[in-house]
Amino acid sequence: MKESDIPGKSSLLMGKVALVTGASQGIGRAIAIAFQREGAQVVVHYKGSENRKDAENLKVELERLGDTSPLLVQGDVTIEDDVKKAVDSVMDKIGRIDILVNNAGVLSQYEVHKMPVDEWDRIIGTNLRSVFLFTRLVVPGMIERKWGRIINIASQLGQIGGEEMAHYSASKAGIIGFTKSIARELGKHNITANCIAPGPIETDMLKEETDEWRNSKLSELPLKRFGYPEEVAPTAVLLASDPRGNLYTGQTLGPNSGDVML
Ligand code: NAP
Repeated sequence: MKESDIPGKSSLLMGKVALVTGASQGIGRAIAIAFQREGAQVVVHYKGSENRKDAENLKVELERLGDTSPLLVQGDVTIEDDVKKAVDSVMDKIGRIDILVNNAGVLSQYEVHKMPVDEWDRIIGTNLRSVFLFTRLVVPGMIERKWGRIINIASQLGQIGGEEMAHYSASKAGIIGFTKSIARELGKHNITANCIAPGPIETDMLKEETDEWRNSKLSELPLKRFGYPEEVAPTAVLLASDPRGNLYTGQTLGPNSGDVML
């Protein structure tokens, strides 16, 4: 699927400011593009200087697609001070964040008894702790404005587990539990919180997987194919939109080729 296959811009997110973490590539990039097409003002968060070029290219692409001017913010989601600087920079320049997409994530594979403790900490820190760090800073403004949408990118492996991925699966299951809790807590402020739990999606995250794994996984999928980031992004648009997404909170939606059916 190419970006040109996606219908042109509309206005479901007009007037909203959306921050997407880890957006210089992959699923985050596709969500940033989909939000821009829907009229949102997009804040592209990227990790570091190694991602700067991709983030700048995305900014140019977003400017071509929509009428709002995207903002780039940099920072490592595992570093509390970086997260604060990123959020402060949006507040200084735009004044609010209406939609938060916690997308940044990493994956590795280890048998549980061979997994270094540092690696456990890295995966939990990047995938789960970061979601808390961003959420706690963004929620006060949402409460003040009585509107907010928090969208956390989990994984189907947080629902069913994954061999040699106890750390990754635990981080993603943690995101689902975290999201249900804040959905209960923040609903009274008209803030929704939901997860997207994709199945295998063609991004850099899968590039290390062997042909053997890919072929075996493909044969299990009811749709017999992996997804593309552009096929995950519409779920984020739905969850972010008012009124279309208004009744979803505490939910986990699964663009996953039918791999997991709950
Ligand atoms: P990706 O292309 O590798 O994108 C992940 C993004 O997160 C990259 O831009 C990465 O930047 C960024 N990131 C990683 N660590 C970071 C940090 N410490 N600080 C800031 N940014 C950081 O993979 P993707 O598939 O799009 O992944 C997006 C999300 O989808 C992840 O949460 C992933 O777990 C989830 N997901 C993916 C799949 C799949 O099959 N692809 C399935 C289910 C869930 P760097 O490249 O510089 O590290």
